[in-house]
Amino acid sequence: MSLLLRGGRVIDPASGVDAVADVLLEQGRVARVGPGPEPAAARVIEAQGCWVLPGLVDLHVHLREPGQEHKEDIASGTRAAVAGGFTSVCCMPNTKPVNDTRAVTELIVRRAREVGLARVYPVGAISRGLQGEALCEYAELKEAGIVAVSDDGRCVMDCGLMRRALEYAATFDLPVLQHCEDHQLACGGAMHEGRVSTRTGLTAQPAQAESIIVARDLELAELTGARYHAQHLSTAGALRHVREAKARGLAVSCEVAPHHFALSDEACAGYDSNAKVNPPLRSAEHVRAVREALADGTVDAIATDHAPHAVVDKEVEFGRAAYGISGLETCLPLALELWRDRVVPLSRLVALLTYLPARLLGLPAGTLTLGAAADVTVVDPELCWTVDPARFVSRGHNTPFAGRAMRGAARYTIVGGEVVFARG
Ligand SMILES: [Zn+2]
Repeated sequence: MSLLLRGGRVIDPASGVDAVADVLLEQGRVARVGPGPEPAAARVIEAQGCWVLPGLVDLHVHLREPGQEHKEDIASGTRAAVAGGFTSVCCMPNTKPVNDTRAVTELIVRRAREVGLARVYPVGAISRGLQGEALCEYAELKEAGIVAVSDDGRCVMDCGLMRRALEYAATFDLPVLQHCEDHQLACGGAMHEGRVSTRTGLTAQPAQAESIIVARDLELAELTGARYHAQHLSTAGALRHVREAKARGLAVSCEVAPHHFALSDEACAGYDSNAKVNPPLRSAEHVRAVREALADGTVDAIATDHAPHAVVDKEVEFGRAAYGISGLETCLPLALELWRDRVVPLSRLVALLTYLPARLLGLPAGTLTLGAAADVTVVDPELCWTVDPARFVSRGHNTPFAGRAMRGAARYTIVGGEVVFARG
């Protein structure tokens, strides 16, 4: 069965296309972009007034399975992904047990295939049990399906281990993704250290807890020549380091999360634990720096850091609440705010959500070129809605964006030529 998306505005930065055109999907592939005869058996979706984008790609989600299915599982997480317009997601290894063995990687791959919604690419652990002591067996993890390694949630603090991880991962062509946080300096701080933390009296971590690790890691990336990627950067200093490293020609990259360009630490002023996230929401000057880094090309990808939690993890006092935001269903309209605010042009914004992240990890996704996988997101850019966490598809209703007016949403999400989500 083929599927014809008729009359939408096709935006595919990878191939430089931005034009009103029909898109024909056949046998799981992009068969045509542009005019042509309508196949008799085609199902037709009228896409006039909508954008037809390559399916969105998220480098950073927590699906919680195995082990914490009360927060999320692969079925609910990928349902949330496709509702948010994402067709490919990379899931972090801090599950229970940790994804540091072939068996866990295979379980994730198998479950995702059974569920059959978004494509799921597992990220393996850098170190066994995320303990930062001994490296995992990257060869067997890669054979089982991982696309990168990360100890996300924990930072690799040991410099020598980080060097060996970069060298070892490079031999298998696996990028190393770092959660950049000096744990001694951050000291478990619940929020960003600054004027708001002084006012609230909450424990806090300074911006340097992030930027110091980025500076160190970039030195190690230079030493090893390996592919290094900094996750969810949130500070002016860290982004300045990445900018300078890129100017020197290092093969390094970074991502930012929507909450770090859409909210500041003022969101913590009322002690709303839904605004507790790690790295924390930062002061206005850092938010400005994140937006500048998006504008000047320092940032390579927008990634959600989707971190769903159960009510019991969040409905406690701020200091004791779990870190994290359920982000898959609010990312797209928050990203569109960057375009509406003229921070980035539309084609760049689409690239940050599609082929740029796909290219970083070598995923077969992110473009609508002929023969590409038929993963497509049909976006209604003018659809106005208000965030109601109770209506989230994700099991995690933890969001600091409740009540926020949004503009733009996925109308249809298509994976492998099959409609896996349709709004309304
Ligand atoms: Zn992290």
